[in-house]
Amino acid sequence: PLVSADAADLEERKIESALRPRTLAEFGGQRRVSEQLELVLHAARGRNRAPDHVLLSGPPGLGKTTLAMIIAAELSAPLRITSGPAIQHAGDLAAILSGLSEGEVLFLDEIHRMSRPAEELLYMAMEDFRVDVIVGKGPGATAIPLEIPPFTLVGATTRAGLLPGPLRDRFGFTGHLEFYEAVELEKIVNRSAALLDVDITPEAAGEIASRSRGTPRIANRLLRRVRDFAEVRADGIITIALSRSALDLYEVDKMGLDRLDRGVLDALCRRFGGGPVGLSTLAVAVGEERETVEEVAEPFLVRSGYLARTPRGRVATPAAWRHLGLSVPKNATF
Ligand code: ADP
Repeated sequence: PLVSADAADLEERKIESALRPRTLAEFGGQRRVSEQLELVLHAARGRNRAPDHVLLSGPPGLGKTTLAMIIAAELSAPLRITSGPAIQHAGDLAAILSGLSEGEVLFLDEIHRMSRPAEELLYMAMEDFRVDVIVGKGPGATAIPLEIPPFTLVGATTRAGLLPGPLRDRFGFTGHLEFYEAVELEKIVNRSAALLDVDITPEAAGEIASRSRGTPRIANRLLRRVRDFAEVRADGIITIALSRSALDLYEVDKMGLDRLDRGVLDALCRRFGGGPVGLSTLAVAVGEERETVEEVAEPFLVRSGYLARTPRGRVATPAAWRHLGLSVPKNATF
């Protein structure tokens, strides 16, 4: 390969960060969450105090990290970024917390993946701005309370339901991010195209938007892939015909379903007769992690009406059969 995977990944992240809106005003869509956050931030600025802790939930790529950055920027506060899987021990978290400066915003991505002891330490930090540092082992161990400066935690999770109640309750504000409407995504595609200096027709922007699974990250990614196609196979201008050919080549279908989405529906219909089938069995059938199927593929399939979650398992809807070009079986369960 010409570029190593790491270099390509770094390049992706650089572009992603260049396309991030920096203020709430620039952040398109999510009107409700954005308006509510605006109030929370406004009030906190007025009182000159760190605002309540904020929990953001929703599928990947909808703007949780972006909002955390915006929150810090709007408060003119420094931002620290970490994630649940990066915090293995309570001590890791204690070190981060005690290193915070007053008013700092701490972004904790994938907060539901934190270890239990770290979670308990976090409860106390969120509520009392204090942590107990355990010194020593066994019967001689003592807890030394350590004060930490007031900070604002911004937690992100793909599903708020995955968080234990006591943790959820400690957030003063919870915002649930929804998939974006096509018109909102179209604006995002146009904005990104302008930033990347890409020539695109309005119809083509609409086409890319409608195939982006309601997700800004995917809209931005598809825009870049279509741009590659336009530069290599045409004169660089993105037209609707060109974007259709490019998206077909990248296996993104008219409804925006990608390989994984279609794989899930395909397994569900062809291998399990439309279900109901358990999540783990389905994940094995498509060769993916359970979490990936549940947190990445399913939310969009559910929202598009192709898949239903029932107490007995996952079920394909008639629309799913039709989307795969199959006839709907008479005895299928919905
Ligand atoms: P998450 O943390 O929810 O996975 P991110 O905040 O990293 O998602 O957003 C992914 C990409 O999508 C970023 O590059 C960002 O620029 C873009 N993005 C997300 N939300 C918006 C929005 N409302 N307007 C414009 N771009 C957005």
